[in-house]
Amino acid sequence: MPRLVMKFGGTSVADIERIRNVALHVKRELDAGYHIAVVVSAMAGKTNELVAWCKQANPRFDPAEYDAVVSSGEQVTSGLLALTLQSMGIPARSWQGWQIPIKTTDAHAAARIDDIDAAAILRGFEENGSVAVVAGFQGIHEDSGRITTLGRGGSDTSAVAMAAALEAERCDIYTDVDGVYTTDPRIVPKARRLDRISYEEMLEMASLGAKVLQVRSVELAMIRKVPTYVRSSFDDPADPKLGTLICGEEEIMEHQTVTGIAYSKDESQITLRNVADRPGIAAAIFVPLAEANINVDMIIQVVSDASTTTDITFTVPESEYERTLAILEKNKDAIDFSEVQGETEVVKVSVIGVGMRSHAGVAARAFKALSEKHINIRAITTSEIKFSVLIDAPYAELAVRTLHSLYNLDQV
Ligand code: ADP
Ligand code: ASP
Ligand code: MG
Repeated sequence: MPRLVMKFGGTSVADIERIRNVALHVKRELDAGYHIAVVVSAMAGKTNELVAWCKQANPRFDPAEYDAVVSSGEQVTSGLLALTLQSMGIPARSWQGWQIPIKTTDAHAAARIDDIDAAAILRGFEENGSVAVVAGFQGIHEDSGRITTLGRGGSDTSAVAMAAALEAERCDIYTDVDGVYTTDPRIVPKARRLDRISYEEMLEMASLGAKVLQVRSVELAMIRKVPTYVRSSFDDPADPKLGTLICGEEEIMEHQTVTGIAYSKDESQITLRNVADRPGIAAAIFVPLAEANINVDMIIQVVSDASTTTDITFTVPESEYERTLAILEKNKDAIDFSEVQGETEVVKVSVIGVGMRSHAGVAARAFKALSEKHINIRAITTSEIKFSVLIDAPYAELAVRTLHSLYNLDQV
């Protein structure tokens, strides 16, 4: 029998009534002749609550204990869905990450899946067609025997990894929107649902802020070639729509120049004034940051004329802002700067599309459109299929809407 992985996010399992609705989606696919693994998230808001409790208990918490706590939300929903399926006469059991096992690295709170042993679940399929209800987000580090979690939004990655391990026909990610949109439909009501998007574009969208899928899940889908759908759990279980297929570029007939727009609020900008302009300065700044695992994104060095100093500005995630400033202060003598300035009220808006490979001037049009709205650009980066601009936070929505219209993405 063909196999299917179905994943349900937090809003889709927010209470018992919604879990019953999930069970109806599962029943439909069972009736269609699939063996099924369902991956569930914690109930909406639960993980945030658990994270807050950890911080209250001990602000400098041990990451292994943090994982023991925050993984528990998924234990609850996996059991509840198995109970609900059983109440409908459907054989089902819950599986925690450690029981399968889903083996991960020991990077607590941000672990990566190394391997999934699918044998026990496959046995369940063969013996009585039992539905495997898998707790998302969690795994085990084998050597230490400790529970790990995969980073926020990690159930998406559990689902795609499960689909690869089970050689499933596809992975369906059910969420509270009916697909991937040209931009976040909560910000731009005119956003359009895409029938298909390439793995590469989805990877950029997710990396640049579109929270609809965890970045790692898209990476895995691309590497393991898992056809992945994003679709709505709020559709009528008897008559659902397919949503958006994330697939190879060659499976998409028509390409727009621009496919989507993403934005990220977790940004901050740091400027070092009057840095000595001599070889080795960039290394003196960025090596200590790299060693501290701080992800530096946009970097601009002002071209200096005859003077012996220059200004360097760069961005780091807002969540790393304080740590970055502390490291720069510590290395002040080695770097040799006069002053550091910082700004956290900034956002990064990014425009994505494989069509940019073959079209010139796509970014230039954006710069013009933003200037017409008096939006100042603080920094720019470009790569083959995307460009990003850093702007002041109050202009985020205006910038996204302006670019969305500019590239003809608005729903008509
Ligand atoms: P789940 O709890 O099901 O994992 P998430 O909240 O993680 O759901 O992801 C779904 C949300 O992603 C949507 O409600 C939507 O606001 C947001 N989102 C951001 N960008 C996009 C986009 N381009 N297309 C669709 N949804 C998006
Ligand atoms: N419950 C986890 C979170 O909120 C994992 C997930 O929902 O994907 O981040
Ligand atoms: Mg999610």
